[in-house]
Amino acid sequence: MESSKSVRLTSIIAAWYDANKRDLPWRRTRDPYRVWISEIMLQQTRVAAVIPYYERFLRTFPSPNELAASTDDELLKSWSGLGYYSRARNLREAARQIVARGSFPSTYDEIIELPGIGPYTAAAIASICFDEPKAVLDGNVIRVLARVTADPGDIANSKTKQRLQEAAQKFIDVKDPARHNQAMMELGATVCLPKDPKCCGCPVEKLCKARLKSLERQLPVKKRKSEIRRVRRTLLVVIRNGHILLWQRSQEAALLGGFWELPEPNQLPAAKPVRLIHEFSHAITNRIYEFEVVAAKIARPPKTFEWIRLDRLDAIPLSTVVRKALSPLS
Ligand code: SF4
Repeated sequence: MESSKSVRLTSIIAAWYDANKRDLPWRRTRDPYRVWISEIMLQQTRVAAVIPYYERFLRTFPSPNELAASTDDELLKSWSGLGYYSRARNLREAARQIVARGSFPSTYDEIIELPGIGPYTAAAIASICFDEPKAVLDGNVIRVLARVTADPGDIANSKTKQRLQEAAQKFIDVKDPARHNQAMMELGATVCLPKDPKCCGCPVEKLCKARLKSLERQLPVKKRKSEIRRVRRTLLVVIRNGHILLWQRSQEAALLGGFWELPEPNQLPAAKPVRLIHEFSHAITNRIYEFEVVAAKIARPPKTFEWIRLDRLDAIPLSTVVRKALSPLS
């Protein structure tokens, strides 16, 4: 796209954003701590689902100081339900580094050094909070740019991503990179939708190469997704005298470290199933887990398990799966 057209596109998107942006809690601030928390939560979680978590998390940890000083239980409980718990641990580790250095880093090159922060998040914080003209490239921006430039490359390919990153940088509004980056993401999130782009109401319809070539539904090109696998699992609920039998993952475990889990039959071979409580499904990436939750009895459980008072379940970190499994009991 020639430079006069890219300047036009940039200013049209900016004007459209000013008139159409959604009012979201993290858009009312340029505090890098708050923007950072929102960006990490928004990775793999929908905007509407993030809002209550974001507000609760900031009430519990209003600044990096409280987050840096949090215990495992406090941290995991605040994150419980958002999944991908390594993100919460990285947040705390990064908060400790921020507290140690005395302030939030203010350049892309410094921000990207923090644990759990990649190029996208670093560019988002650097541009939104510190006006650094670094273009963001998330899934929404990739889709908008692949269509606007009619890029025929597979977006899973690193060369295509590199090309789109360069295009993103070319379009950036150096005078207001905060608005520009958010406008690009907003256009992808609300107008240039994956399956059903709303080209008729799109502010850049006349400049969009995919639209001009009627390719908007063919682009971007994406490698075929790997097949969905279904996996059946059974969880045992053993309750005695107001206590439930659980085991705790090691604090160091990469996945769900410190969380409490329900036993599975291979862990309690002596358990006797009594009745089916309920069944539910839980999808994780390309797997769908189909759980059956079974009430069971056991005379002497192994020492690796603990009896936890039922009225303490709200106070300990439980994964989404365990909370779903126990939902009929609450
Ligand atoms: S015209 Fe259609 S395909 Fe092009 S950017 Fe707008 S919504 Fe996306």
